[in-house]
Amino acid sequence: METQNVNDYMSKIRLCSMQELREIARKLELKSNGKREELARLIVSFLLTPEGRNEAYRKLDLNFANSFYDQIKTSNRLPEKFRCICEGGSGATIECTRCKFHQHTSCMGRNTLISPYECPTCQLYQMQPLDEVVEFYILPNSVPRDFIHGTQCERNFTFLQSQLDKIHSAKGALQIQARCLRIDGIGYTHQWPKVGCLIVNGRTAMEFRGPEHSNAKARKDEPLNLTTLFVPGKNSVNLLRVADTESFFWALVLIKKRSDDHFIKEVCSKPGLSVEQGKAFLIKKLNSGDSDIQSRSVKLSIKCPFTMTLMEIPVRGTKCDHLQCFNLDPFVRLQKSSKVNRWRCPICKGLAFDLIVDKFMAEIVEHARVLNDPHSVELMSDGTYRIISFEEYLESINKKEEESGKAENEAKKKRKTEKDDSINLNELMPAPVQIQKNNGNPQVVDLIDLD
Ligand SMILES: [Zn+2]
Ligand SMILES: [Zn+2]
Ligand SMILES: [Zn+2]
Repeated sequence: METQNVNDYMSKIRLCSMQELREIARKLELKSNGKREELARLIVSFLLTPEGRNEAYRKLDLNFANSFYDQIKTSNRLPEKFRCICEGGSGATIECTRCKFHQHTSCMGRNTLISPYECPTCQLYQMQPLDEVVEFYILPNSVPRDFIHGTQCERNFTFLQSQLDKIHSAKGALQIQARCLRIDGIGYTHQWPKVGCLIVNGRTAMEFRGPEHSNAKARKDEPLNLTTLFVPGKNSVNLLRVADTESFFWALVLIKKRSDDHFIKEVCSKPGLSVEQGKAFLIKKLNSGDSDIQSRSVKLSIKCPFTMTLMEIPVRGTKCDHLQCFNLDPFVRLQKSSKVNRWRCPICKGLAFDLIVDKFMAEIVEHARVLNDPHSVELMSDGTYRIISFEEYLESINKKEEESGKAENEAKKKRKTEKDDSINLNELMPAPVQIQKNNGNPQVVDLIDLD
């Protein structure tokens, strides 16, 4: 637990005048009456909690906050930017590559393996680009494992009537959502506990159950829209898991709906990769030490992997490191209908929330559009290219088959001594596509009638 000693930190705060102490207490929303020593101690104990540390950097003078935490250099003190899903405590931390806040490595478990590592808050911000997070009502916190612990983990927050009016008058464009993620080392995927429940203002809003029978339909684990359940004034929310050994974190967020068209327009209006940058990327990839690509040219598809027609707007995820593009429009529209692997690049399966238009590839596709039956493109290491027609593609396939047939015949001759001379079809066929099974995941979310 916390090893920081309140007494070690009292010296700095003792230099403050009574008026300054009251001002600090007011900003931190602490009880501001009482004797000087009592008030100072109250402030220090609060500032030494992770929550207090966050609040100090948000609400107090930055110089004061910095000098306060710099007073004592202990090896296990928490970093200045610290925000974890736990109630606090010391221990080794990991820094989020996006927001630079730290979390306990022990609390983040397998998620510390996500590369680049991003914290729960950053994951929640990005994971559903069409449901844009505008505000956190409850920051990510861990899901307690049983009811006894759970009752102590109830989260409270207050709504003003005007806030709720604004949300309701948006008619679904603004929603208060509960989101929950499993700490699974993959991240960014919504998942509720196998068995558990979500309690809003003392009433069960949702119960999560395992499958009733083995053939039950796969459970749809989606964020929950709780907008209608909140009232002006104090509200409470509690998410509990029962008999689930996995770790989860959850948060309550206000989201703003974005239409596919709006999102697509936004991607197109960003600068993207210019023709020169696109060429430079190609040249870099072809000349890199990457053994499977190092060559004078590379052949890429110019067709959309979803519609198999010529791409309209070729894009890649900003984190993608491959030359092949995919088609923006069908990709974005598919995200709405598909329940699994959301926002995953169809080429590398990496996260593709943030998309970038490749204008060099767009130029190639525009060029191909006026040609007869274009199929793919051959890109040279000097940045030039050549469109390959479907006919040429077929010819090259036939030639390859002939060559591999010859090679196979020779191999057969060599295998004469073997009893069974049959051709192993598996060797000639491309590797089968692996269909990912949703193994062992819970199957049904039972809706409780909310009246
Ligand atoms: Zn923690
Ligand atoms: Zn972060
Ligand atoms: Zn990719």
